Amino acid sequence: MVLTTFLTSEPSIPAVAGPADPEPASIVVLSVPDRAALERLVASGTDLTARVRPQADGSIQVDAVVTPSELAGLRSLGATLAPGTPPPAKRAPQTSAAPDQIVIERAVWYKSGGRHFLSVEASSSGGAAASLSVAWKGKKGTSGEAPLVGFENFGVYLGHEVVSPVLAEQEPLWVTVTSASGGKAQAKVTRWPGGERPDRHGRGYEKDFISQYMPPAQLNERIKALHRRYPKLTDIIALPNLTNGYRRHAQAQLGTPPNALTLTSHAYGSEGGNDLSAEIVTPGTPDRALAVQMNGKQLTVSLATDASGAPASTVAQVVAAINATKGTRIQASPYRTDPGAGILAPVPLTQLTDSLKAPADVSRDPARVLALRIGVHRDGSRTGVLAYSQEHAREWVTPLVTIEAAERLLRNYDNDRATRRLLRETEVFIVPTVNPDGANYSFYDYNFQRKNMTNHCPAQQSDPAQRDTWGVDINRNYAAGSLHDGYFGASSNCQSGTFAGPAEHSEPESRNVIWLAQTFRNIKFALNVHSYGGYFMWPPGSYKQEGRVTLPRPTAEQEAYFLRSARTIEEAIAAERGTVTWPQKTGPVTDVLYSAAGNSADELWYDYGIFGWDFEVGNDIYNPETGRWEGVGFQPAFEEAHAEAMEFASGLISLVGVAADYRER
Ligand SMILES: [Zn+2]
Repeated sequence: MVLTTFLTSEPSIPAVAGPADPEPASIVVLSVPDRAALERLVASGTDLTARVRPQADGSIQVDAVVTPSELAGLRSLGATLAPGTPPPAKRAPQTSAAPDQIVIERAVWYKSGGRHFLSVEASSSGGAAASLSVAWKGKKGTSGEAPLVGFENFGVYLGHEVVSPVLAEQEPLWVTVTSASGGKAQAKVTRWPGGERPDRHGRGYEKDFISQYMPPAQLNERIKALHRRYPKLTDIIALPNLTNGYRRHAQAQLGTPPNALTLTSHAYGSEGGNDLSAEIVTPGTPDRALAVQMNGKQLTVSLATDASGAPASTVAQVVAAINATKGTRIQASPYRTDPGAGILAPVPLTQLTDSLKAPADVSRDPARVLALRIGVHRDGSRTGVLAYSQEHAREWVTPLVTIEAAERLLRNYDNDRATRRLLRETEVFIVPTVNPDGANYSFYDYNFQRKNMTNHCPAQQSDPAQRDTWGVDINRNYAAGSLHDGYFGASSNCQSGTFAGPAEHSEPESRNVIWLAQTFRNIKFALNVHSYGGYFMWPPGSYKQEGRVTLPRPTAEQEAYFLRSARTIEEAIAAERGTVTWPQKTGPVTDVLYSAAGNSADELWYDYGIFGWDFEVGNDIYNPETGRWEGVGFQPAFEEAHAEAMEFASGLISLVGVAADYRER
């Protein structure tokens, strides 16, 4: 209840910046000239969101979380801040002797917010350079035109599509795609799930159980309360791997960089590290030797002096002297990569601190991750659905999706026949927060935290000003198609937003997810809930850069099943408030987003045969005043978060329905 006040409007947590404090980060819209430049951004380990938006001029805009100095560094990769308005839509016409072959892959329309939108994907034998446009004819004699943009990636042509769904006056009926080289194709426009369908549930169906953003402790309380209330329909499963905990070693940076050193306590801050302090003094008399003393919890370094009485100890000498002194319970290191040849100046008594800002009642202990198992028959005899959220800490909306779905399934068991059937025919495993340590850090310390809190960086990347960059990207830490297997879209840099970790499954958070798949072999469906961008995706989720070789594609039959199910699920999402997951954001991850080496859905699919889906909740919202689609962000004002939770909880329940209908073939 405490949280409602500080989370309703401005999500960023203001911090007083000191010399050892991190640079502030923000979400920016970057523009890169082409797909290859986007791949370079992915390769650089830049902290990209899932909101990737191709533009009419062939450039691509992508939302990213960056600090000012990171942004400056990205210019060399061809990324600039996107202009406030999209660039004009014009491509140079292509001329060539023979007409090209055009294939229309998808032409769909849908209704959203009372408006009609058209989306078209096509390909040309002329490849990405072909200049295509679409003309449509709709009901009541309406018509219109729009350019199609070609996409290429590592030299592989991916097809053409409209930049974003195009506003159409009436329902579009037919499209004609033409090419500047003379190619032409026509297709009927089919209906994509829109937001105009009535709620299929009977009257009295209860929903809307979410009233605020919730940190991990509250999420766990929530599922425990559900278990107490519905003991016959639920179990609480304590996942076997404890996280490292919302805790850090206590640190202090003494001196002025680069003539500075970092002190790090052996103990976590909460376990005594925060009680330690240190000072660097000068005796003021000539020709004294360097001396280090630990008095109780206070470290005193007395600097050597020269013949004039001036300090004469280098940073490296002080570091070596501290580390050679027994019983300090402190490790010293020079500033970053500086060799420490500079002379250190005196520093007044300084407290070491873990810098963690959560109130004391937020546990600093290793955390137990919980799952709620829902179903009438919780014996493995029914098709299992695993829904897990908040692998990425800052995606605060995602646990609201799984909690809302759990509540709906349980509270409607008595009064809704369809729900009763779902609970009889399936078992649903809900993990509201996979990454509770990172989530706490996101709530209380640094709202853009994506990864967990475990720092694998060496000393030169571990001074306190870098603390917002540590941790492992849980959704790059899995074993299928991983960085360690040579796949693309994860980083070996411990400070990168997509750091894969030192090894596959190095992190307890990812091991917990896989443990569920290994332990409950009836799980046939999994939904990995992320935000934001409005996607619904499935494997393959990664490829090798060389030749863009993806993990094996599902068979045509499986792919058709993925797509068919996706449309059912997206229809349920759209029914809530008419926001529509774009057709071009529905498909295999590698086709519609970017390569994500070592993600969980891939491991579940390739190693466990589980249909592994990903939601990127938070569809763009169409702004009729500007005619533009707008992104929603990681921590929108609660009103928007609530709406997203309602939508995607409906989508999740629809997936449970798909599972209830599933028969092993
Ligand atoms: Zn995510």
